[in-house]
Amino acid sequence: MSKGIFPIDKFQKIPTPFYYYDTAVLRKTLDTIKEEAGKHANFIVHYAVKANANAKILKIICQSGLGADCVSGGEIRAAIQSGFSPVHIVYAGVGKSDWEIELGLDHDIYCFNVESIPELMVINEIAEQKGKIAKVAFRINPNVGAHTHANITTGLAENKFGIAMEDMEYVITEAKKLKNIKFIGLHFHIGSQILEMSDFIALCDRINQLQSQLEEHHIVVENINVGGGLGIDYDNPNENPIPDFKSYFDTYAKHLELRAGQQVHFELGRAVVGQCGSLITKTLYIKQGTYKQFAIVDAGMTDLIRPALYQASHKIENLSSEDKVETYDIVGPICESSDVFAKAIKLNACHRGDLIALRSAGAYGEIMANQYNCRTLPQGYLTEDL
Ligand code: PLP
Repeated sequence: MSKGIFPIDKFQKIPTPFYYYDTAVLRKTLDTIKEEAGKHANFIVHYAVKANANAKILKIICQSGLGADCVSGGEIRAAIQSGFSPVHIVYAGVGKSDWEIELGLDHDIYCFNVESIPELMVINEIAEQKGKIAKVAFRINPNVGAHTHANITTGLAENKFGIAMEDMEYVITEAKKLKNIKFIGLHFHIGSQILEMSDFIALCDRINQLQSQLEEHHIVVENINVGGGLGIDYDNPNENPIPDFKSYFDTYAKHLELRAGQQVHFELGRAVVGQCGSLITKTLYIKQGTYKQFAIVDAGMTDLIRPALYQASHKIENLSSEDKVETYDIVGPICESSDVFAKAIKLNACHRGDLIALRSAGAYGEIMANQYNCRTLPQGYLTEDL
């Protein structure tokens, strides 16, 4: 079985479970983004902080020149503390609190991605109190489906996100009447873990259609933000550590009909950090059930919730054993039946104390960890920390 490369001796000294981030993979990913996006003069890439806000990871991403896409005041603070300039911060979210809007205005962030008229009115009001002009883009719900898990599609009419397409012109017209609002663009995001370029082509087609509609009313759009969503290869992290950024950016370059001077913004999360991270856990017990053999590990759904939340599958490797493979259900210690990482998978024979890696856990892993069952949050270590 092909396995990833890990500093196992160093792992032995760290209390499990913990996250390990391979910074060589992260840096190579960032270099590839720079190279592929850089082929298109008007492409600007932001990192979606929600995927992983580990301060050391944020610093590396910031140093590579990406902007930040935030969805809360806490993320805006985390991004600024890690060095992101507010002028490269975009802020989305369907329910922005007043203090979060104030924070964004105080820092003069690049743009608020606005999701409703009531939100627009509140931003205008708070901006007026502060004597500021808020730059806004409208998040339009393009009613484009994505071939991904139902819980991570966001661009369908039934989802809570964004403004309906039929309301777009009205909302822009209203915004233009407001003294403390400057309309600067349109924002979209159709979902996450998308591997079929046809989904992004469908989004481009819809944006082209909406742009033509706006042009008829002489409405100029400076910025098109297409969101994120590029997926990673969860089954083969060793063979495909770097997502297919070339196809991704080329798809947008080919299918999006841009007007003179328009900039295209991307908000990539999972594709940036997913493959560099692994959750490292220790085998506690091997238990023979009536029908199954369980490997009970010391990490649980509190450390990595994706399998329980969206039936996500992470490749699992036994880093301590080369013994003949056996079949296991890999389960955690949490008092919930859904605390299962994988069912009936083949793994080199497990023994108490073996180190197990759950791969491709850099995105929506550590950041979603919680303390249910009064557990301690897992720590994150980078290659250079060990
Ligand atoms: N932008 C917005 C508005 C999002 O909601 C998300 C994820 O939920 C992202 C970007 C990042 O998505 P991904 O990690 O799939 O690239």
